[in-house]
Amino acid sequence: MIINDTVSCGVFCLISTNLCVVYENLSSQMSRKNYVYFCCMRIDIITLHPELLESPFSASILKRAIDKKLVQIVLHQLRDYSEDKHRRVDDTQFGGGAGMVMSVQPISKIIDHLKSERSYDEIIYMSPDGLRFDQGISNKLSTCGNIMILCGHYKGIDQRIRDEYITKEISIGDFVLSGGELPAALVCDAVIRLLPGVLGDETSALTDSFQDDLLAPPVYTRPAEWRGRMVPEVLLSGHAQKIEDWRHEQALRRTKDLRPDLLD
Ligand code: SAH
Repeated sequence: MIINDTVSCGVFCLISTNLCVVYENLSSQMSRKNYVYFCCMRIDIITLHPELLESPFSASILKRAIDKKLVQIVLHQLRDYSEDKHRRVDDTQFGGGAGMVMSVQPISKIIDHLKSERSYDEIIYMSPDGLRFDQGISNKLSTCGNIMILCGHYKGIDQRIRDEYITKEISIGDFVLSGGELPAALVCDAVIRLLPGVLGDETSALTDSFQDDLLAPPVYTRPAEWRGRMVPEVLLSGHAQKIEDWRHEQALRRTKDLRPDLLD
């Protein structure tokens, strides 16, 4: 069992109820054989606050994907890689100005360490000035084998780390959060739900909004009548082609009304 094996080998490991997330530091190299198992995708997340990433992976579809070994999430505490005696990971800005900057030393140490162990399809930095995250990026990332995600804090990371290692910079929108953990969790959710075997038929990702540049059509379930509001007749007809045509027409109408930019 992952938890016992790693703990008995002296690896710092913090796993809450059934959560198959491994926290590792450099000393885990010696115990790697104990817990690396086959899974389709591996996501390494470098963070100062691994605890912020616990809950998104400990429930619902993401937890199921981890339990089914379709994805492995490995959280790395950046502070473990600091060579400073107080485990500092930041410093003041050259040129002056408010706000601390995350230093090159611990980040380069962890990234070099991870890169020495396997190759990465993408090394992602979560950043408000990055590429705006969307379904297309999510689809592409879902075909990767190994992904590394770096979560920033404070004023962000030293530019030289971005120049040296980062292959993709992703923003989740035009606003600034205090750290990259929530953006990283959001990206992981969008990507993991696309992995083969993660969603059952009942929640197929292919019929979700944006997959075909259209918003999804409205959906209904029992009862067929509620407070005088009826489910559209066609959905009760049992006529597959008519239902499909109706859904397409509704998707088109919704997109025209709510997101006409998607049709450009
Ligand atoms: N000084 C930076 C903001 C730093 S916010 C700027 O003005 O652009 C601190 C960290 O939070 C960032 O390094 C990044 O990792 C994360 N972050 C904040 N907002 C984000 C967003 N919209 N998308 C992705 N990551 C974000």
